[in-house]
Amino acid sequence: MDYQLIRSKRKTLSLQINNNAELIVRAPNRLSVIKIEQFIDEKSNWIEKKSKSISLKKPQKPNYTEGEKFLYLGSEYPLSVNTVHAKGLSFDGEIFSLNNGGKEEFLSWYKASFKKIALPRLEYYAKNYQLSYNQVRLKTQKTLWGSCSSVNNINLNYLLIGAPISVIDYVIVHELCHSVHKNHSKNFWQLIFSILPNYKASKRWLQDNGHRLQNL
Ligand SMILES: [Zn+2]
Repeated sequence: MDYQLIRSKRKTLSLQINNNAELIVRAPNRLSVIKIEQFIDEKSNWIEKKSKSISLKKPQKPNYTEGEKFLYLGSEYPLSVNTVHAKGLSFDGEIFSLNNGGKEEFLSWYKASFKKIALPRLEYYAKNYQLSYNQVRLKTQKTLWGSCSSVNNINLNYLLIGAPISVIDYVIVHELCHSVHKNHSKNFWQLIFSILPNYKASKRWLQDNGHRLQNL
């Protein structure tokens, strides 16, 4: 069994399966490899069960084939594929229709939808709550949903268009509030709360589902 061994001053052995279903072993500096592997052996049932459940949870990258589901505003919609027309992606409210394409088509469709749906909300919250920003840039980034620079330029990850609108609002308001508080202080969270009293549910949704938005 493959594992990553991390030795430290600790007194006990511990096992962890990370999000990639890899085994991480933490061990005291001087403990012998034989003892460590004995321990792994004893816990093999637990390891197997745990890593199986993690790899099941790990979403497979889409192949852009018929029937695969894609997120939009928090719901999943099936894909219909045809190869007759010119490249492109369209959505009729129930089904995504893809002509000869894949990831590229989804990225540009998501970006255009984000512009149409999310950017007016940024303006709305800025105007109604006297929060200001300079420029907005749309990007895709692995772990970042948004950021706000020292001169209040806001970056937003347009893959958020796969999330429920309340989650999009949360990220927008979060970044706008950074135009007032350049930190995550109590006052910062209070300001968000005064605008979006249910923001914690959105924050949790992102933590639990963020990886699904990235799965293209
Ligand atoms: Zn922040």
